[in-house]
Amino acid sequence: MENEAVSVHPFERSLGAGPYRFVGTFNLGAAVAALHAGNVAGYNNALAGAPRVEAGMGTCAHCGMAISLICIVKIGNGKLYGVGSDCILKAGMPVKELDALQKAKRAHNKALREARKARKGEAARGELAEMIQFEGERMSKLPHPSIPHLTLLDYANWVLERSGDNGIVIALKGIKARFEAAVYPTNPGNASTSDKHRV
Ligand SMILES: [Zn+2]
Repeated sequence: MENEAVSVHPFERSLGAGPYRFVGTFNLGAAVAALHAGNVAGYNNALAGAPRVEAGMGTCAHCGMAISLICIVKIGNGKLYGVGSDCILKAGMPVKELDALQKAKRAHNKALREARKARKGEAARGELAEMIQFEGERMSKLPHPSIPHLTLLDYANWVLERSGDNGIVIALKGIKARFEAAVYPTNPGNASTSDKHRV
């Protein structure tokens, strides 16, 4: 009904004849994030739920831009196309469907933030494990930041075992700062690139 007032719909040339219905979203970002995290099962799972679109799985079927939150549009002939969240706004959708879109966008952004956090945590975990492996000897001769009879190595092992994705990123900075300050105290170039958060 809401499309009848528009003489030539913007989707007419790119997707085909209307009417156009916004039938839901698919978050490709979750699949990509799972793949980056090495979670093949998660990747396959995420893609298994993907709708069968004629075009638009990864790039908008209307404008060609790369998209990860895919808005699924059903056109007049019943076929599905994926468009970006900006282009879907050109479809003249009712408010109720726009609300659903906003909700999907928020969930999508949240998933992206979570994935980013997990990636950073994973990287920090790997770096700390490597540091323990190669510098454990020297770390075992440096003091624990707060407990007198323990060592920096004890602290690093505790952090590795117990910290969440945010915690380990912060703790690693502190450990590196302590280690570098103790091991390379006179090197002026030390820690200038990776560590500006000396404690
Ligand atoms: Zn687009």
